[in-house]
Amino acid sequence: LARDTTTLKRLETMRSDFVANVSHELRTPLSVVYGVAETLTDEVGDNPEIGRSVRLLQEQAERMKHLVDDLLLLARLESGGAPRNGRWVDVPALLPGLVEEARVLSGARNHQLELEATPGLLLFGNETELRSAFANLLFNAVHYTPDGGQITLRWSSDNQAGYLEVEDTGIGIEPQHIDRLTERFYRVDNGRSKSRGGTGLGLAIVKHVLMRHDAHLRIRSNPGQGSRFTCVFPAKLLRQSLAERERAGGGS
Ligand code: ADP
Repeated sequence: LARDTTTLKRLETMRSDFVANVSHELRTPLSVVYGVAETLTDEVGDNPEIGRSVRLLQEQAERMKHLVDDLLLLARLESGGAPRNGRWVDVPALLPGLVEEARVLSGARNHQLELEATPGLLLFGNETELRSAFANLLFNAVHYTPDGGQITLRWSSDNQAGYLEVEDTGIGIEPQHIDRLTERFYRVDNGRSKSRGGTGLGLAIVKHVLMRHDAHLRIRSNPGQGSRFTCVFPAKLLRQSLAERERAGGGS
């Protein structure tokens, strides 16, 4: 049985080109609006009414900027094949920086952040893309976990695969939503996501980054108890660093 998918493929390309072009065109006017809002902030003096409006203007311009950035990133991820600039990424060295950023994001919400990483376990791929995927998962955990909750970031492997895991003790997700979470703009609770500046594109970005690395996302969650998002990487993309192997072998 054969099916001609040429038209479908062409339509798909048109769709993603269109989104990428619109996003690109929106960039300049948006940065002008944002810049003007910033200048106005300095000028409003003590008029509270105008002050509120200018703050709103700035917040919304910033939100649109995030949206446009995420749409452009997604378009780029969709259009390419395997990532260029692939190299051995020192994941254990990358993760502490992410945890630090998550700590800043958490601020006074005081989440308990923990990192468990296998020393010297390297992953072949595009560092920028991988970093952005891991950051999305970690920052989501901060957003969807009540104050003081526990968030653990793990990097490990077994004979079959490598696992980058983000576990939280947050609000969790009802089972009927799980299969759809990586769709663009799919949100369990629209109000909650938007009120904290979410674009609804984070997990779609994660999915595409993983697909480009022959990897996939596994989601386990219990409503009210927490969630575990695991990126599963094939063993062929893993390597133990030489220094670590020598250390494990007693330096011989
Ligand atoms: P958003 O910008 O809305 O967070 P994402 O694509 O990152 O978009 O996530 C999609 C949806 O998945 C979120 O709106 C939220 O409902 C749910 N979600 C993501 N991560 C978590 C988590 N750690 N705990 C609970 N729900 C989550």
